[in-house]
Amino acid sequence: MTDTEALVVGAGPTGLTAACALRLQGVSVRVIDANEAPSRSSRANFMHARGAEVLDRLGALGDLAESAISALTITVHVAGEPVSVVRFGDVGLRTSRPALLAPQSRVEESLRERLADLGTEVEWGTRLEALHQEPDGVDASVSGGSRIRAQWVVGADGAHSTTRKLIGEPFPGTPVADTWLLADVHLDWPLEPNGSYGWLHADGVLGALPMRDPDGPGIIWRLMAYEPGLADTQLTTDEILERLRRILPERTRISDIHVHDATWSSVFRIHRRLANTYRRERVLIAGDAAHIHSPMGGQGMLTGVGDAENLAWKLALVQRGLATPDLLDTYQEERRPLAESVLRTTT
Ligand SMILES: Cc1cc2nc3c(=O)[nH]c(=O)nc-3n(C[C@H](O)[C@H](O)[C@H](O)COP(=O)(O)OP(=O)(O)OC[C@H]3O[C@@H](n4cnc5c(N)ncnc54)[C@H](O)[C@@H]3O)c2cc1C
Repeated sequence: MTDTEALVVGAGPTGLTAACALRLQGVSVRVIDANEAPSRSSRANFMHARGAEVLDRLGALGDLAESAISALTITVHVAGEPVSVVRFGDVGLRTSRPALLAPQSRVEESLRERLADLGTEVEWGTRLEALHQEPDGVDASVSGGSRIRAQWVVGADGAHSTTRKLIGEPFPGTPVADTWLLADVHLDWPLEPNGSYGWLHADGVLGALPMRDPDGPGIIWRLMAYEPGLADTQLTTDEILERLRRILPERTRISDIHVHDATWSSVFRIHRRLANTYRRERVLIAGDAAHIHSPMGGQGMLTGVGDAENLAWKLALVQRGLATPDLLDTYQEERRPLAESVLRTTT
């Protein structure tokens, strides 16, 4: 007796991609998420070309390409002067899709819409609490005392993954950078939102990346500033903005900047961690549940989406009896070295 062939834990970009890809292969899927509702905060704001290709193959691009802004350059400054420009999109990459500057919340929305077309809705407010593996299936206990019997479990439940902990997989790694300030804000300043900007400064790096305002016609800027040594990581939005108002003119050497109306703010530290094993019998982990690293270069969502696509077609073949479970071992063989490289290069 099973309730579903695959149980996907976590409705972030990794879990939603896995669920869409499994549904497209005819596998029955339930997706649970501990949150009561979809997150509206932007988080990742850049999807590289290879990730956009995955969404396209799943039919999940929706209007992301049209609604994303075209700002595919990064201009780096030292002492207020531009010293390098990196361009995406015209570098001869053999890609069918350009990179997307779109907030993670919009990418998730587009994936959820595709998943609904394929007949599956996310079960919100449903937290995985325990797992019991048997040779022919897995019993999952979820919040509220319910149980779900599945043939396979895909743990896409993020950096603090319950799935990973329940299969006893440690998350070895190390902190790599101290505190960063982050805020999505409206900015009055002379720079055009046709690219992203970085400033290398003795006090720390500062970055500014434009995004379309999801609630209006304007532009929101993602500001990220390295601010080491902050003892208090629970700063309020006003406290974060106060610090950014000081940092911006110091590091950019632009004096006339007005920062207002933050839509999201955070203080975070950066860790790099990588699970040794992506699979224990019928339970597999993917995305941030398996690897975390610096957001520099915007590759976390990309790597998770790639994991999910790689895993889903293999799981579907095994479930249909068209391949032996050994095929699932190639998931880790192919994806873990890639995550290792992402950890190294982003650090
Ligand atoms: C500041 C910042 C900027 C970033 N910028 C980029 C970028 O530009 N490009 C990029 O590619 N990446 C970027 N990233 C990384 C990206 O946000 C993550 O890699 C991505 O969210 C990982 O997706 P995921 O689906 O694996 O995990 P998550 O997005 O963390 O989703 C996990 C889901 O699991 C749910 N969950 C957790 N525990 C349970 C449980 N027990 N039961 C049920 N559900 C559970 C959670 O509620 C959540 O919805 C950035 C990250 C940060 C912090």
